[in-house]
Amino acid sequence: MTEENYYQASTYSGILTTKLEGEHRYDVCVVGGGVTGLSSAIHLAEKGFQVCVLEAQKIGHGASGRNGGQFIFGFGSEMPTVRKLVGESEAKKLWELSLEAIQVTHELVEKHHIDCDWQWGHVHTAVKTRQVRELSDFREDLISHYNYDLEWLEGNSLMDQVASTRYLAGVKDQQSGHLHPLKYTLGLAKAAQEMGIDLFEESPVQNWLEKDEVSLSLPNASLKTNYLVLAGNAYLGSLGKKLSQRLMPVGTYMIATEPLGSTRAGQLLPKNIAVADVNFVLDYFRLSADQRLLFGGGVSYSRIPPVDVRNYLRKRMLKVFPSLVDVKLEYGWGGLVGITMNRMPNFGRLAPNVFLAQGFSGHGVALTGLAGKLMAEVISGTAERFDVMSQIPHLPFPGGPLFRMPALLLGTTWYRLRDIL
Ligand SMILES: Cc1cc2nc3c(=O)[nH]c(=O)nc-3n(C[C@H](O)[C@H](O)[C@H](O)COP(=O)(O)OP(=O)(O)OC[C@H]3O[C@@H](n4cnc5c(N)ncnc54)[C@H](O)[C@@H]3O)c2cc1C
Repeated sequence: MTEENYYQASTYSGILTTKLEGEHRYDVCVVGGGVTGLSSAIHLAEKGFQVCVLEAQKIGHGASGRNGGQFIFGFGSEMPTVRKLVGESEAKKLWELSLEAIQVTHELVEKHHIDCDWQWGHVHTAVKTRQVRELSDFREDLISHYNYDLEWLEGNSLMDQVASTRYLAGVKDQQSGHLHPLKYTLGLAKAAQEMGIDLFEESPVQNWLEKDEVSLSLPNASLKTNYLVLAGNAYLGSLGKKLSQRLMPVGTYMIATEPLGSTRAGQLLPKNIAVADVNFVLDYFRLSADQRLLFGGGVSYSRIPPVDVRNYLRKRMLKVFPSLVDVKLEYGWGGLVGITMNRMPNFGRLAPNVFLAQGFSGHGVALTGLAGKLMAEVISGTAERFDVMSQIPHLPFPGGPLFRMPALLLGTTWYRLRDIL
């Protein structure tokens, strides 16, 4: 697919960086110039650490610069499943951390004056009768366990938010919403530079070795650091060999229409909220600031994109908004999302001074900001909240590195069928 990412076309980078060359030393080295890496660097610098960020490509090259932009409460796994996994009291802490993630994201945006088209409001929608019941149970569960209420939408109240007859019901969360992910990521990068953090682009870390301190090797450089943060997520490739059993990089895709104009855009999403349906292979969409429909969907477990991404997503988009039949698509792109077996984030330590956060399983827009805050807490000696995350039990994907994909494909066929039935 020709990669035409709307976010790149609508963002001015505004940061100047170099490649890392020669020998260097830092208190903390962060691998990965996405939100996990940049938020870690910012929170660490606030605590007085001397930090650098090493990015293999360009800042925002990974999922942080190409996602749906939807910041959403909770996790990829629903709370009843989380409770079974970790028990009532840890689940409550996790729930609260998921709300804090949105707060941290908002604080970063406000504190560093990042202009990233922030909009409040998010709706989950049901496509099938069975899902109306599931959505209602989901809402009741949040009220009874966490005293958290979502607005129930049906009929006119639903049409007022999402003017599509495809949906039978919805729940609205006013504390979730959407933003321009690349403007946010580059805004964090600019703030990091202003705080004295060194950012290096086109600087792929090839290897790391831990003794008392950590040594990193790059093509024309080497670096010693007291602490290493691995924030490469689904893009970490061979550097993440030790982590790969717990993480499956999965392809997902997006399109952007031509600008629709305010009248037509307002007829689709009158309150400018973000929407995601509750199918296993979900559709997610929202308006951009220049009134395009940004529509995402589809997953590729083989990471091979559908033959014609634009056409594939166009058909899905027309099921939601048939009136867009005459509208041109101007951009189509894809990216890798890192998922775990249980759809909960995977935080941990590979050595006493080597930390990682990955596998946000489709909830990374908000959780990555929080990951950076918790990373700074653990490195500065307060491990408690980081460990609420790191103690979530994770199973490896069945089948090992070679056979995990076929095993996952078999496992997911049932869920895809449920989307259709
Ligand atoms: C199309 C798409 C839509 C999505 N939509 C949503 C959404 O609407 N809401 C939501 O919550 N989540 C969404 N996600 C998921 C979300 O984008 C991610 O969870 C989040 O951006 C992960 O951020 P990160 O900083 O951990 O990793 P990334 O942003 O992927 O950054 C990792 C970086 O590490 C760099 N790197 C890797 N290896 C090395 C190395 N060896 N040396 C140096 N650098 C290295 C990579 O180049 C990359 O830039 C979506 C993802 C995709 C792909």
